[in-house]
Formats: sequence, structure tokens, C-alpha cells
Amino acid sequence: MAETKKTSTKKVAEKKEAPKTAPKATKAAAPKTTAKAAPKKAPAPKKVVEEKKAAPEVKPVEQKVEVKEVVKEVVKEAPKQEVKVETPVAAKKDEKLKVLFVAGEANPFIKTGGLADVAGALPKALTEKGVDARVMIPLYLGIPQEFKNNMRFLGNCYVQLSWRSQYCGVFTCNYQGVTYYFIDNEFYFKRHGLYGHYDDGERFAFFSKAILESLKIIGFKPDIIHANDWHTALVPVFLDCYYRNDEFCKKAQTVYTIHNIEFQGQYGDGLIGDILGLNYDQSLLVRYGGCVNYMKGGIESASRVTTVSPSYASEILDPYYGYGMQDILNARKYKLSGILNGIDLEKNNPATDKSLFANYDAKTVFENKKLNKVGLQQLLGLPVDESVPMIGMVGRLTHQKGIDLVTAVMERILDMNVQMVVLGTGDWKYENILKDMQNRYPGKLRAIVNFSSDMASKIYGASDMFLMPSKFEPCGLSQMIAMRYASVPIVRLTGGLRDTVEAYNHETGKGDGFTFLTYNASDMLYAIERAVGLYRDYKDEWKKVVQNGMAKDFGWSNIADQYIKLYNEIKQ
Ligand code: ADP
Repeated sequence: MAETKKTSTKKVAEKKEAPKTAPKATKAAAPKTTAKAAPKKAPAPKKVVEEKKAAPEVKPVEQKVEVKEVVKEVVKEAPKQEVKVETPVAAKKDEKLKVLFVAGEANPFIKTGGLADVAGALPKALTEKGVDARVMIPLYLGIPQEFKNNMRFLGNCYVQLSWRSQYCGVFTCNYQGVTYYFIDNEFYFKRHGLYGHYDDGERFAFFSKAILESLKIIGFKPDIIHANDWHTALVPVFLDCYYRNDEFCKKAQTVYTIHNIEFQGQYGDGLIGDILGLNYDQSLLVRYGGCVNYMKGGIESASRVTTVSPSYASEILDPYYGYGMQDILNARKYKLSGILNGIDLEKNNPATDKSLFANYDAKTVFENKKLNKVGLQQLLGLPVDESVPMIGMVGRLTHQKGIDLVTAVMERILDMNVQMVVLGTGDWKYENILKDMQNRYPGKLRAIVNFSSDMASKIYGASDMFLMPSKFEPCGLSQMIAMRYASVPIVRLTGGLRDTVEAYNHETGKGDGFTFLTYNASDMLYAIERAVGLYRDYKDEWKKVVQNGMAKDFGWSNIADQYIKLYNEIKQ
């Protein structure tokens, strides 16, 4: 997703093979060293268990036995009681559902949008439920050095892309209990930005094949490979076309999740022979509309296809939302379902968020939220007034997010006694319109054209209302974060917004937001007016709406259960 992020298309040095020691500060230490060091370092038996778990990641499967032997030796020296703790863990280890989650980005390493949030949170939730979930992303230049310093080199291989043979290094690290792998090739990934390069088709074909090729290096035989969006849509295709006899993935089943159907990975069909190396029969999987379409390949080949909300799963069967993919999806409807995304409750927590001017929870919200509003007003040079309703927006400035509607009636919104703070990057035309409006309404509007998680938190924390009038919204995380931060969402009823925001009902006192249905600026304006009216004139009711939103459970625990159910349905 977030294909529209601006990235440099600067040509990369024509070095086809990347050096084996990719991350600067990471010496390509042989895996042996780390594995050997583990038992020595383990003073307490607990530690031994941890090292034992990590071992198969380091060594190929054939060496598993050796690793177990080393662990056993250590266990012998440990007191009796601890041996008991060891054995069941080892037994369960093999029974665990093994999932490899592959994506173009993952939090906290690198992020352009919601996909990174999911890749950071879902595997963690799965791990907490006893699944052996691991994540694989490219080793981008933009991954902060502090993460690269903690990575270990596991090995390398060569990936065949038609006539090319490309270097593929594999690095790993553990973050919050989840094992992450990073595919290294400097020719493809040592560039600024993630997507938007002239050869994205080749880069992500390489990444998708490298994922399957590197399984033998990491010694992992996944039950499920979970691919996401166009970046890794070729994984199920390559798996079926090239790897069904491979020891490490012949049993793997695939789940393919569409986070945003607008970005499909469409390229000229010259790629088929020149890069993908598919024969005519195989190429039918990816051919669509005279082009190569990676997403179509993912839909055709995966065992199951999911999207990130139940409403979006039915919307994309319609031409208005399907972006040309509706016919393929209707034909494959039997394997399509929608599972709503969640948010990371630890990371997105107003009670602990360090970016806020004052932390708060459901009890202290009405006292402390004001301090955040005042803090942001001072920071941005807006008139300081804790009673003025503040409307926040955080998101990509693209047509998807309904910016057209906002700019169309901006004067009318700002004619109300409100302040508005918008944070986002995207299409230059929206950036310019917002900047221009800020100049015309300096006391009412701030348009911050930047990507800043710190500022995003400050806006969620300070705003009373959060505007998200999306034209389409596969799931949307911002509205959930907003509710958790006591910023009442004003949304169009589409996709995940429909599934997460319930319109406030004056009669029943139920509901947590304000909604409108038609993609129409006047309808959006009316929803904003209703929200501002309630905020001003019905303070107790307003508090109820805020509390209803804060009480909602958007955590990953239930969602992980739904994925586990799905994985188990297809596991062989
Ligand atoms: P999408 O994935 O379509 O961009 P989502 O609502 O699913 O939209 O996820 C967007 C995520 O990215 C949220 O966590 C939001 O806070 C964050 N985000 C979007 N734009 C910015 C920005 N300019 N600065 C910081 N965070 C941003």
C-alpha cells in the first residue's frame, strides 16, 4: 500500500551483486558463533529454553539434531526441576503452527502505511497465542542503523530471475519475541524510499522468489506463508510454479491479504519472460488486461484470499471498489473473506505515549486531554483556547482519503468556530491546496506536510474530532487510534470505517462517532456540524460518545484467533 509515497527514482549503481555484509555495522559473523555462544551465556535454565527456541532459525534443518544435542548437554547440568520445564517446550515446538508473514514493510523497522502496522502487530499477537510466527521484509537502506546493529547474518544464496542470478543475503533479529528476517540485495534495496522505483516489478519479483529460496538458509518449513499486497503477491505464484518439490515449502499453504486493491503491481508483459521466467501456461496466472498483474497472480494462486475488513471484502466485488479486479474476485469468491485489522494497544496508548503533553486514560481523559489541546495550539501557533473544538486529520493526502471533500468545503468548515490540524503527505495538489488554505486561515488551520509519528500522536491526543471521509477504506487504522485517544471519528460509511465506527444514537446513547454514507461534501459537512453541535451544546452526551469509543477493544488478540482458525483450515 501507500504506493504513492514519494520516492527517489535516482539510478542505482549498476552493481548487480550486493556484498555479503550488507548492514553497515553488522559483521557477517558466521551463524556458528552465535549458536555456540548461546548455551554458554545461559546461566539459568530459562535462558536455555530461549536459546533452544532460537536455534532452528540459525541452522538448516539437517543440523537441528546437533543443536538439540548441545541443549541437552546443558540441561544435564541443570537441576532436575528445570529439566521438566525444558522437555514439554521442546515437544510442543514441533507441534506449533508455523507461519511466515511476508510483506513490503513492517513496524518498527520501516513504515509507509497501515501494512507496516499489521506486519508488526499480527505476528506478535500470533506468537503470544503459541504460533511460531516469523516475518520477512527487504533489508532497505531506510531501516534505522540501531536495528541493523542487532541483526545477525545467517547466510546467502542466489536467486534465479529468468537469465539473472541475483545475490540474496539473509539477516535476522528478534524483536519483542518475534523473529524477523531481512532479505539483502543492495542493487534492489539500497535506495531511498520503499516503492515507486522504475524497476519495482523486478525488485519485488526478486523479493518474492528470495523469500522461498531463503527458507533453507533459515531452516524453516512453514505450514503457512502469509503474503500481503502486490509486493509479495508473487510468492504463491512462484511457490506453485517452482517450489512444490522443495523440501522446505512443498507443504506450505498460502494466505494472500489485500490491504489496498488500488495498487496491484501492474507491469508490461515483457516481464514474464525477462524476469519472472514463467512459461506460457504458468504466465496465465499473472496475465490480466494485456499486462502482468501481480495481485491477480496472488488471488489465483493463494489457498485463501483475505481483505482487512468484512465490508471491504464485499465491496471489492463491485466495480466501484474493485479497481478492475472484481471479475477475478467474483470467480474466486469461495476463498475470499474479510478479517478486520486491529491496532497495537501498547504502542497506541494515551496513558503511556511519550509524545503527548499529558497522558490520560478513561478516568483522566476529560481533565488531561485539554492540556494536549493547549500544548498543540502553543506548538503550532494557533490561538490558545481549550474550549474550541479541534478537528484532526492524519493520513496520506490522496484521493482515497477523501481530501477532495474536505478541500471542497474547507471554508464552510472553518467558518464554524473550530480549529483544524491536518498531517499528511501525498499528492502535491492537496499539499498545495492545504498550504494555501492555511495562509488564508492562519488562526484556524494548520497543514503539516510531513510524516511524523510524534506529530501524529500529538494530533490524536489534542483533537476532539477526527475526520476521515475516505472514498474507500480497506480497514483504516487511524479512526481506531483516534477513538482510543478520545478523538471522536467523523467518517464515511465504507469498508473498515463501516465496521469500526458506530453512529451515535441520541435516543439510545449508543455509538461512538458521526457518519455519512454518500461520497458528497455536503453530507460530510452535515456530519461535522452534528458533531460540533453535540460537543458545544450537549456536553454530557459528548462525554458518553468519547467513553464509548475509548471502551472499544481494537486489540489483536481476537483477530489473531480468527487468523489461526483460517490457517488451521488450510494447513496440511
Ligand atoms: P493507510 O494504510 O491507507 O495509509 P491506515 O489508516 O490504515 O491508512 O494507516 C495509516 C497509519 O499511518 C496510521 O497509523 C497513521 O497514524 C499513520 N500515518 C499516516 N500518515 C501519517 C503521517 N503523515 N505521519 C505519521 N503517521 C502517519
